[in-house]
Amino acid sequence: MEWGKEAKQALLRVPFFVRNRVRKRVEEEAISQGATSVELRHVGSCRQKFLTDMESDIEGYQVEQCFGPSGCSNRVLKNDDLAARLETIFMRRNLKEFLREKVAGPLRMHHQFRVSISDCPNACSRPQIVDIGIIGCRQPMIDGEICSECGTCVEVCKEQALALEPGGNFPNLARDKCVGCGQCIDVCPTGTLQESLSGYRVLLGGKLGRHPQLGAELPGIYSAQQVLTLVNYCLDHYLNYNLSGERFGEILRRKPLTIDMKGVPCNKQ
Ligand code: SF4
Ligand code: SF4
Ligand code: SF4
Repeated sequence: MEWGKEAKQALLRVPFFVRNRVRKRVEEEAISQGATSVELRHVGSCRQKFLTDMESDIEGYQVEQCFGPSGCSNRVLKNDDLAARLETIFMRRNLKEFLREKVAGPLRMHHQFRVSISDCPNACSRPQIVDIGIIGCRQPMIDGEICSECGTCVEVCKEQALALEPGGNFPNLARDKCVGCGQCIDVCPTGTLQESLSGYRVLLGGKLGRHPQLGAELPGIYSAQQVLTLVNYCLDHYLNYNLSGERFGEILRRKPLTIDMKGVPCNKQ
């Protein structure tokens, strides 16, 4: 459907990871008004409907994902069904009904339990400020192959985690600086840099609002299956200790999560 210039500009101001959803909603609004193109007034009426009848749009949870699956070249992991599997878990929990019982007054978007997946450490979908943030990660290790000292890995690493010392046979890897983008592994022509671990970093309890806080990262890297187990574990905790629809981060402050590493195995770094 065609978009007028002003409507397009308004859409560009929407955060990119929810832009497709908003685009679809506004186009539906334009069609319902018999229009053949989207104009600024359709954006306005869609926004108005959303504000006056927010509760009908609330599902009790939100699973967001960055643009990785659309072909972003920075993508570290190619697990296209993780978001869908998470959706299935949340649908079974019926969080909307749960929140209706807990929250005094109408439900708002900020009451929803939010999960965000970023397929690389660039973290475009802002996993640090949601209840559960999931970040794709691929860590390098120095393998036995002789390094040609081409310096490509040093150039490609934006974190200065790799350095070539004069007279050394291999680059030095500063693990505390490495964010696990995996790019050095892909450019190494000799195979000196190999993948040691790949999976997801998991952050819990992030939020914005009056008292914003970044999610606290759990130790280790998790497989997709382990992430699903963890999410179920977190949801049990959320449902058991939620008093009035508060965000997961507030619950964790009051009642910290004790992760059972046997139930949720973790690949320690
Ligand atoms: S988080 Fe990484 S993979 Fe996802 S869109 Fe951003 S740069 Fe691409
Ligand atoms: S994985 Fe990324 S951050 Fe880590 S050393 Fe390689 S290029 Fe640097
Ligand atoms: S890219 Fe590979 S071969 Fe080149 S300096 Fe780095 S480790 Fe050595």
